[in-house]
Amino acid sequence: MMNTETRVRPRSAEMFAEALRYIPGGVNSPVRAFRGVGGEPFFVNRALGAHIFDLDEREYVDYVGTWGPAILGHAPAVVVEAVRAAAGRGLSFGIPNPDEVEMARLLCDWVPSLEKVRMVNSGTEATMSCVRLARGFTGRDRIIKFTGCYHGHVDSLLVKAGSGALTHGRPDSAGVPAALAELTLTLPFNDPAAVRAAFEREGGQIAAVILEPVPANAGLYLARDGFLETLRDLCTQRGALLIFDEVMTGFRVAKGGVQELCGVTPDLTALGKVIGGGLPVGAFGGREDIMDMLSPDGPVYQAGTLSGNPLAMAAGLAQLRELERTNAWEKLETLGAAFEDGTRSALRRAGLRYTFNRIGSMFCLFFTENEVSDLASAQTSNREAFARFFHHSLDNGVYFAPSQFEAGFISTAHTAEDMAKTSEVVSKALLA
Ligand SMILES: *Cc1c(COP(=O)(O)O)cnc(C)c1O
Repeated sequence: MMNTETRVRPRSAEMFAEALRYIPGGVNSPVRAFRGVGGEPFFVNRALGAHIFDLDEREYVDYVGTWGPAILGHAPAVVVEAVRAAAGRGLSFGIPNPDEVEMARLLCDWVPSLEKVRMVNSGTEATMSCVRLARGFTGRDRIIKFTGCYHGHVDSLLVKAGSGALTHGRPDSAGVPAALAELTLTLPFNDPAAVRAAFEREGGQIAAVILEPVPANAGLYLARDGFLETLRDLCTQRGALLIFDEVMTGFRVAKGGVQELCGVTPDLTALGKVIGGGLPVGAFGGREDIMDMLSPDGPVYQAGTLSGNPLAMAAGLAQLRELERTNAWEKLETLGAAFEDGTRSALRRAGLRYTFNRIGSMFCLFFTENEVSDLASAQTSNREAFARFFHHSLDNGVYFAPSQFEAGFISTAHTAEDMAKTSEVVSKALLA
């Protein structure tokens, strides 16, 4: 079948056909396959600033930003230079290098909950390690998570997760033993009574409550006033650990993440995405007494051949320092507000009353008139209307995430011109 993609992006279409022969679904991570919107993905040739260029040399204003890491835009000179310089000194050592210490010190300075921290290679590794550590520290097995919160593809956490799993209508993955999934209790977000009841029932068995303090993997919505405080209190009272998964929000919504903004300090924090400047990095850390349970000092095993990799440390440090040097969070808020204005006036022009949620440079336009504050309300969105909007935007040079259940990201490289173009395209796409 000759679909739109084949006509408009022939080189990408050809490459995708080839990819399907060798890679399951043609992609190395499911959301990239465009199943949430139909059609086929395009292949990126290069990316610079807020723009990506596909194999057919079509140019797009990018609001995915490699799913968050590209907070300074693509290929920022400071990061690229730091990686080049580090590469000249060696690609991996497998023995301590000074940049790991520098990174750890910076993280402990910036993120309120961090007294000690360990580097890993992905957000998934970070949350997986937090869960193991919480279980090892408390001697308990049960975990509370929230529906729609995604914490990477960790067995224990792939239960009612958002994002790819949702889009594919398979909230639970095959291959996760039921015996393991049973240890994970899933509750609705923003429902303190449900959490209280769970602690009443099985408080003595709960090792940890893990959440995205600003959930951004089923679209984007915020915790209601008091929700995070209630979780903190319940965990403290019942001897469970509170884990913030700030893989997405860390260094994006503020220098110290959501925990800096909300003033609630978790026991453990998982980090990723922005921390690596585009290289594969994650980190987890928290209270010293908990972190000291890790091998080699303690009984909880955790390791990584490439953890603290010198290229990744160089990229991450360069990106984080540049964010601080330019106080990027202020600029990101200004850009976010401008984007919101543009989107809201486009909605008005189109006579639509869709819900738009935003925190700083993260946003989600839900194709529903309902307030969105949890997974259930996010799912009231009209996905067909979203898919039409997505494809119209893409064909006119604006790339949003290919799923209603993903957040959008603005970088410091987005210009007023990019915003103006986007607003124009969005206006038309809403009527598509
Ligand atoms: C992306 C993400 C993860 C997983 O990180 P990977 O690097 O993809 O393994 C975990 N938690 C949250 C909140 C994320 O957004």
